[in-house]
Amino acid sequence: MGRVLSVASECVPFIKTGGLADVVGALPAALAGQGWEMRVLLPAYRRLRPLLDEMVEVLHEPGLFGGVGRVFSGRQAGVDLLLLDAPHLFDRDGGPYNGPGGDWWDNPQRFAALSWVAARIAREGLADWQPDVLHAHDWQAGLAPAYLRYQGAGGVGSVLTIHNIAFQGWAPASLLAELRLPAAEFHPGALEYYGGLSSLKAGLVTADRITTVSPTYAEELLRPAFGMGLEGVIAARGGDVTGILNGVDTQAWNPEAETHRYSARDRSGKAAARGALCAEFGVDVPGPLAIVVSRLTDQKGIDLLPSVIPDFVAGGGGLCILGSGDPALEAAMRDLAKAHPGRVALRLGYDEGLSHRMFAGADAVLVPSRFEPCGLTQMYGLRYGTLPVVAATGGLADTVIGASPATLAAGVATGVVFHPTDSIALGQALRKLLALYAEPEVWARMMANAMAHPVGWEASAAAYAKLYAEVAK
Ligand code: ADP
Repeated sequence: MGRVLSVASECVPFIKTGGLADVVGALPAALAGQGWEMRVLLPAYRRLRPLLDEMVEVLHEPGLFGGVGRVFSGRQAGVDLLLLDAPHLFDRDGGPYNGPGGDWWDNPQRFAALSWVAARIAREGLADWQPDVLHAHDWQAGLAPAYLRYQGAGGVGSVLTIHNIAFQGWAPASLLAELRLPAAEFHPGALEYYGGLSSLKAGLVTADRITTVSPTYAEELLRPAFGMGLEGVIAARGGDVTGILNGVDTQAWNPEAETHRYSARDRSGKAAARGALCAEFGVDVPGPLAIVVSRLTDQKGIDLLPSVIPDFVAGGGGLCILGSGDPALEAAMRDLAKAHPGRVALRLGYDEGLSHRMFAGADAVLVPSRFEPCGLTQMYGLRYGTLPVVAATGGLADTVIGASPATLAAGVATGVVFHPTDSIALGQALRKLLALYAEPEVWARMMANAMAHPVGWEASAAAYAKLYAEVAK
């Protein structure tokens, strides 16, 4: 059995601000089934420090960027957890990355400390545990492969996964020595990034292999529009870069476990779920009932909805929106709902329970993103037979088979895919959705296809296991 040290700034159920936490939290159980034992190293943020009482100290680092660091080990919530306790860096009120006044001023040092300790554990091992592979996630762990590389990897392989390339861990060049990085590596081919430092770039140039969260996004990252300044760095790694799709938690997202149960074999409960959803939102929709469950941001293409939904409503469709975000988009959604009472309805806020009822009750889920590294809601849609209408980008393109004469004839379509992300293409996609809904047999076949599409972690875990085996030396 191989061993992996996974290092990240977030992990469900301990600390979460985004999808990174879901992936880091899901991997240990998924990898165990593939013969890989994974331990997860996180900072002991203030709210995690009570856990230390039930864990044992396994490593002491006296000079850790201005104070003492101690690593504690123990099994917590089903995860083999390692917590880095460094009160001078992590014992604070506020979020993992920012306090009341914005980003923590010492974020470069805080996450350098996490990465430093990760590299030390990888290289030296703990008393009872020596990893074969270091798996670093996003910029917060980007320096871990760099430290490992520059200090001698001792036979341990490294993988860096990009979940969100928009955050690159920038720091001024003046911190080079303080961050314990070699001056000789401060050049464009290695650590230098637009005159400063980027811990994500450092990881990208030093990790043995790089992954991102879908195959299409791995290709898109080579283009300036998606690579956000790092496209050249990624291109230079050539075949070392691969895309591995995220999975979803198929126990948590299970139509057989919802209030109005249904399954792929017996979908009769979905009609009851639809009725309940319409009642909850106060809508009455003769045609397809679509949902949006999303951050309301430009990335998600929410700004396109006001120009296409009036036609969709005129064609018999309806829309229930759950989300929060950009105030201008919240206002636009409010106006949209007001203009179409009984057909379009809005709930502002974050509500996991409601999102379950929406996936269970709706006919379709709209995901018109401009970019989407992986995306989860289209996969919930597949699982619930709630047909995804998605832009052909990133993980959306990799998970949904768009309806076309060929895919319908072959009986494999699972949704509607459109390109590019603009109101013309989205409008056409919604007209296609109306037409498909008008043919109950076609629609039923697509629902069955969608629900049969595997969205769990099995395939992804096998891909990570294969990658680990390749980099373990
Ligand atoms: P991103 O991480 O870019 O926001 P993803 O599709 O990868 O997009 O993940 C978003 C997750 O957050 C999904 O699980 C989605 O259901 C959930 N979500 C987004 N907005 C809301 C909301 N307002 N209420 C409940 N869940 C939400």
